[in-house]
Amino acid sequence: VIQVYSEPLKRNGEKFGTVIVHRDITKEYEVDVMKSEFVSTVSHELRTPLASVLGFTELMLNKELKPERQKKYLTTIYKEAKRLTVLINDFLDVQRMEAGKQSYDKKYDDIVPLLSSIIEAHEINHPNHVFHFQTKTTHTMVLGDKDKLTQVFTNLINNAIKYSPDGGNIYVTVYEEESQLKVAIKDEGLGIPEESIDKLFSKFYRVDNSDYRKIGGTGLGLAIVKEIMKQHDGDISIQSKLKEGSTFTVNFPLVIGYSDEERGKNGNL
Ligand code: ADP
Repeated sequence: VIQVYSEPLKRNGEKFGTVIVHRDITKEYEVDVMKSEFVSTVSHELRTPLASVLGFTELMLNKELKPERQKKYLTTIYKEAKRLTVLINDFLDVQRMEAGKQSYDKKYDDIVPLLSSIIEAHEINHPNHVFHFQTKTTHTMVLGDKDKLTQVFTNLINNAIKYSPDGGNIYVTVYEEESQLKVAIKDEGLGIPEESIDKLFSKFYRVDNSDYRKIGGTGLGLAIVKEIMKQHDGDISIQSKLKEGSTFTVNFPLVIGYSDEERGKNGNL
């Protein structure tokens, strides 16, 4: 995209020529397009849960309802309001990430207790999935921001639950490979079409087929995970087979020789 503008050249108030400036504004243009796409997606995504909150509230206000029905509607309102909160938090995170305004408070600590507590919370809320947690290395220290890493694992475990059937196994494994500390989250779910794998980390990208469309989401979770891992000098990779399941593996630089004494001093994960 080229912006062109002209400026008259004057000497003693007399015009004697013109300067024509061609400026390549492709980058600015692309950022503008991205921003307006973002705003329209955000508005669209917020509208659905809001409509549901308003609809059910109106129903409750205008009708005499039996207590069971009231409870049912209130549960829906609560769920939708919660979904709105998640959406808004995701949108804000992406915005901050893009503006380079996310701050990271990194400390050395053990990743295993953090993972255990996240898995435990999910076990309680999702009794229809079977969780397996295994640690295969003693080098389980990372230099990390506790809240951001919680977000990474919560997103990945939530996806494993969301995109796999009830009764499915979810395996979380901590291991060491090629001088890296890795955490793999494996599910027995829908799997990902090969042509989609590279696109999963793009903002708003969601696999577009009938199995997936029924499942709600923003397509922002993995973009956030990817950025957080980058900020930890790590990365994330995917192995997946359609209809068999997926494994999302995050990796961190290996921390070796971190003593228990220092762990006590600094530990905060
Ligand atoms: P969301 O789940 O909100 O759509 P994400 O960024 O977390 O957004 O994921 C992007 C897309 O990647 C999802 O819409 C889904 O199509 C696919 N995906 C993510 N995790 C899994 C998984 N464990 N199994 C199958 N597909 C997945």
